[in-house]
Amino acid sequence: MKSHLPERLYLASPIWLQNTIVSLYGRVEHKRRYGGAHNSFLEHLRENRLLSFEENKTLQKKLLRSILTNAKNNVPAYEHLRSRQPELANFPLLGRQRVADNIEQFVSREFNPKNLLALYTGGSSASPLKVYISKATRQKTYSFWQSFYDYMDFNIGDRKASFVGRKLQAPDDNRPPFWRYNITDKQLLFSSYHLEEANIPHYVEKLNAFKPKIIEGYPFSIYRIAEYILNHSITLSFIPNGISTSSENFSVRQREVIEKAFKSKVFDQYGSAESVVFASECQHGTMHIEPEYGVLEVLTESGDITSTGRGELIATTLLNEAMPLIRYRIGDFGTVIEDSCACGRETYVLREIHGKVGAVIVNEGRQVPTAAIAIAFEYLEGIKNAQIIQNQPSAVTVKLVKKPDFNPKSEKFMIWELRKMLGDSLKIDIEYVNDIPPEANGKYKMVVQNFQK
Ligand SMILES: [Zn+2]
Repeated sequence: MKSHLPERLYLASPIWLQNTIVSLYGRVEHKRRYGGAHNSFLEHLRENRLLSFEENKTLQKKLLRSILTNAKNNVPAYEHLRSRQPELANFPLLGRQRVADNIEQFVSREFNPKNLLALYTGGSSASPLKVYISKATRQKTYSFWQSFYDYMDFNIGDRKASFVGRKLQAPDDNRPPFWRYNITDKQLLFSSYHLEEANIPHYVEKLNAFKPKIIEGYPFSIYRIAEYILNHSITLSFIPNGISTSSENFSVRQREVIEKAFKSKVFDQYGSAESVVFASECQHGTMHIEPEYGVLEVLTESGDITSTGRGELIATTLLNEAMPLIRYRIGDFGTVIEDSCACGRETYVLREIHGKVGAVIVNEGRQVPTAAIAIAFEYLEGIKNAQIIQNQPSAVTVKLVKKPDFNPKSEKFMIWELRKMLGDSLKIDIEYVNDIPPEANGKYKMVVQNFQK
């Protein structure tokens, strides 16, 4: 389990030291992300950007054959398919729980887990999952990110404002600054946990002084600021090249508010911590599915698996050889079409994604998006499933389904994480249950809210 000692020490430090820690961490992270395979792979992606449909399909077929062959030869969970052809049709649908219960069975024998990076994902369902990726896979994933930033004419090292889930400041400390600076990437990180009405003028003032080239992060956090800017008729002293959003769905109206307030376009990204899919919007608002990152299929209502259509999204990684998840049920619904775009790209396109719906938990004027809340669940070991019920402001009930290896420390850790985000006054009740039933659409909801905000 992740230790929260470093975070405790960080939160207890003076602001100048916190800035130093953020910058040192930024430097380490910069090397991890942008070293090794990153640059050459980015160049490759840029060269391949305008491939035709046919060229993309041929390339994808080759990558798919390679990952499936590797899977059936080296991954214990797929050993029984060894005599089969390396074709998707020969691989079964894979659910999150099956992976969560047998993680080591999905790691390729070609890799030593000690040399791999573990990504923890709470996901939209809050059932925790650990996914291993190789260092090269991570570097290539950041090549896809840079390729996405190309639409905004943004390069790492240009000024960027980030609204993310990291705890930069104790939630009960309502004194500015609500931001810390990562000098390595010229990245100003803003707290998503202090966006109360009274604090927002500080955020706006700092954004005006910093003049970021792009703003990125949770749509809900950026929306809060955008709404404030419009309500108070504030004129910004800069126009960002773009607003890059990810991690949760947001409404058309919220997007309009953000675009109007910042006089800039929203570029949304869709992906999953399981490293199976990467899709992002170009300047024409088309969400291109990256052909070299993963294969996205659709499980239709009639039970067929098709390459286009509407239904449950099924993804196969083409990038993560260390832990190849094949025909993996991400847990989101959407529509995949084949469409050309004015930007010149010919890829499959993702539309109408339903899932990871942005909701908020509230406590004393504080609103924390569920994408951030997911972090509290990410490191939970010995927990099969979790759900937060909020029936009134300032109080929540957390339902937990234990596994046999449950460790009471998990509960303490989660409570600590929730308090860090929502403050000490939040009343938290824990309820152990045998099962958490899905919603009518078959999806698990991480947060259920039973009152009007
Ligand atoms: Zn396009």
